[in-house]
Amino acid sequence: MDPAFTPEAEQYREKVQAFLAEHLPASWEGIGSLPSDSVYEWTGEWRKILHENGLLAASWPAEYGGGGLTELEQVVLAEEFGRAGVPAGGPNDVFGIQMVGNTILQWGTEAQRKHFLPRILSGEDVWCQGYSEPNAGSDLANLGCRADLDGDEWVINGQKIWTSAGHLANWIFVLTRTDPDAGKHKGITFLLCPMQQPGVEVRPIEMISGDSEFNEVFFTDARTAKENVVGEVNGGWGVAMTLLGYERGEAAATFPLMFRTELDRLLALAEERGVNDVPTIRQRLAAAYTDVEIMRFTGMRTLTRYLEGEQPGPESGMFKVFWSEYHRRVTELALDILGPDAMVPSGRWPASSFQTDDPGAPNDSASWVGAFYNARAGTIYAGTSQIQKNILGEMVLGLPKEPKSDRGAWKDVKS
Ligand SMILES: Cc1cc2nc3c(=O)[nH]c(=O)nc-3n(C[C@H](O)[C@H](O)[C@H](O)COP(=O)(O)OP(=O)(O)OC[C@H]3O[C@@H](n4cnc5c(N)ncnc54)[C@H](O)[C@@H]3O)c2cc1C
Repeated sequence: MDPAFTPEAEQYREKVQAFLAEHLPASWEGIGSLPSDSVYEWTGEWRKILHENGLLAASWPAEYGGGGLTELEQVVLAEEFGRAGVPAGGPNDVFGIQMVGNTILQWGTEAQRKHFLPRILSGEDVWCQGYSEPNAGSDLANLGCRADLDGDEWVINGQKIWTSAGHLANWIFVLTRTDPDAGKHKGITFLLCPMQQPGVEVRPIEMISGDSEFNEVFFTDARTAKENVVGEVNGGWGVAMTLLGYERGEAAATFPLMFRTELDRLLALAEERGVNDVPTIRQRLAAAYTDVEIMRFTGMRTLTRYLEGEQPGPESGMFKVFWSEYHRRVTELALDILGPDAMVPSGRWPASSFQTDDPGAPNDSASWVGAFYNARAGTIYAGTSQIQKNILGEMVLGLPKEPKSDRGAWKDVKS
């Protein structure tokens, strides 16, 4: 475990710090210190600055408009952005840049790369992820959203669900069933589909917080061009798995920082509420501190492997289970510290629905209650804890595999 930073990397760090000093106000405390209703607009402006300075899509080759940074520079950039409490892009960039953009880079045709990648960066195309369906979540290969070729176009019929930020998007990457006679994993095609057409209907789902961050998406004879297939027709499962690798990775550098900042806020809250010498609270705070340190060392191990050119393997699931289960525990502790105040939350709610509240957020009860809700989601999205444990058991520990009862044509085995 030695994520060594070379003198060149340290020089690059100084460059990033100078960039941040130039573009952020002197009194900057992190994006969480902005009023909730200005976060969206600020992030749009920030995204533009990143794009103009080649810092959006830092890993993409410069010929497609990316930063062309080395792996080490990307890690340094992520760390410095994490410390400064600024995002690496806008709310849909996790889908546009991290997921579908990286996947098009790996699997797309040159024409797709040239067409789609610059449009993602310019913000012209805003993406969301159409994987899950009411009968296809953990068992994703059960998906039944149909696509049939009609002349030069695919015609899509079916439903997706839990489509995060789908209401902000104008493109969706969608896993479709194109050969129901083939085996479950074999008749799937990865399509890119424009959303602004009569055949695509987006219905928001209201969450317990009252916000609507994700949606149901209904396709009724929706159309997309024949060439908007990534990878092979009926070969979409491999493409889908590549994309999930991007969804589950990239956390090793930033999460330990993010959870440490959050824990510091919790320690301040315990002190403010006069409970930091209550033995049961102290024990749980100490355990949380230990967990964040474990995350830091696990993150360093992952980074070391990454910098040595190794791709994250199935053991990256261990990190996912660890941080997401930790986050449930620590936000439950926050609610115990708040006591009855947690039932009548007040102040600023988190502006985003993933992981911790943003750096610089005030220590309000609404911030912690919002983080508590989000922590429930953390053990579900990007692979539930139970599924991650199955993967770890089978692929890392070599335990016997779950018996399969779904061999044969998808149309005969679907649930
Ligand atoms: C905040 C959030 C955002 C999301 N955003 C998106 C998005 O943008 N696009 C998208 O396509 N999807 C999205 N999802 C959906 C997410 O991928 C699914 O919720 C997830 O894959 C689980 O599927 P499910 O909800 O259908 O639960 P199910 O698969 O029905 O699971 C229910 C329970 O059964 C357990 N279980 C299932 N199978 C097994 C097994 N074999 N062994 C042991 N236990 C098992 C699960 O762990 C879980 O506890 C999002 C989800 C959340 C919470």
